[in-house]
Amino acid sequence: MTTQTDILVQPRSPSRRLLATYYDLSADEIETHLRAHGGQPFRARQAEEWAWKHLARDFSDMRTLPAALRDAIATDLTFDPLTLERDFEADQGDTVKMLYRTRDGQLVETVLMFYPDRVTVCVSCQVGCAVGCAFCATGLGGLERNLTAGEMISQVIDASRRARARDRELTNLVMMGMGEPFQNLNETLKFVRSLNDPNRLGFGARRITISTSGIVPGIEKLAAEPLQVNLAVSLHAPNNALRDTLVPINKRWPVETLMAAIDAYMKKTGRRVSIEYALMKGINSNDATAIELAQLLKGRHMHVNIIPFNPVDLLPFERPQPADIDRFAAILTDHGVPATVRYSRGLEIAAACGQLRARHEAISP
Ligand code: SF4
Repeated sequence: MTTQTDILVQPRSPSRRLLATYYDLSADEIETHLRAHGGQPFRARQAEEWAWKHLARDFSDMRTLPAALRDAIATDLTFDPLTLERDFEADQGDTVKMLYRTRDGQLVETVLMFYPDRVTVCVSCQVGCAVGCAFCATGLGGLERNLTAGEMISQVIDASRRARARDRELTNLVMMGMGEPFQNLNETLKFVRSLNDPNRLGFGARRITISTSGIVPGIEKLAAEPLQVNLAVSLHAPNNALRDTLVPINKRWPVETLMAAIDAYMKKTGRRVSIEYALMKGINSNDATAIELAQLLKGRHMHVNIIPFNPVDLLPFERPQPADIDRFAAILTDHGVPATVRYSRGLEIAAACGQLRARHEAISP
């Protein structure tokens, strides 16, 4: 059971304890909280309506609640845990990257992408990341801390507001921002359940994709959950010698163990898993590697998303030439493995995860 103490965010400095936030609480906990301030259960339902359907920005927006009750609940509950630090647009405004400040001063990135047929938000689940993939800006500085479910929800609520401002609605959510969701599994699941709750955002689980670098126990736990979310696994290499150099956790859960976990996940859930493959020039992009990848995946009914690498200031990796990208994809499809090349959005705003935070910290006093 979640207690008031559990939901307090513990910053690095032990001298500061932050108030719980609205988005971190379940509907039952909101009711308990309002009751403690004299609010009837129907007031909790009103508050929920304001928070999730009208995307209120603060308690003061909840106009059907008595002002005295709004003031009372604000004394020991913060509404929104994130404050916008900056936002950046690219692709003629179709890609927007937001940089938020947490209440303990950390920076969190979110990307919102508008397509003709969908609107996708890419959410972060940690500040930094402990996995330390060789090609990733987020992993460079290690892990600062996990985000709470409320901090993940805040990213989605702001993205929803921005979509509505353009007469659109969010349609898809990917957990491919900063962090490894399976190293923050409890908060990630709490986040997904809140989104999925029809009385809250009512966001369909099938429109949510959780991406992992290959944390096998996380794949096993997700398989046991009754959630219909999509799973994407960032493979990036078809063999241990290469994957060890790109994704350090491969030494703990090597390719054969990871593939067995994916096979078991698909068998148990009946859901397909997609494979993410960041294509880097001269690293994992040659013909022999494509053939080896095809042999590994053939017959497994997995779709490969080939993501030509987004150059990062501090890292030595490069994007292959377009002809080499197309040839890699063609080798996979010729071997019966479906593959799609997906170019990252927002190159000019450093939209690959962790880049914007790293750059902002480098230039901020
Ligand atoms: S790619 Fe993902 S898992 Fe790897 S270091 Fe970056 S954020 Fe972490």
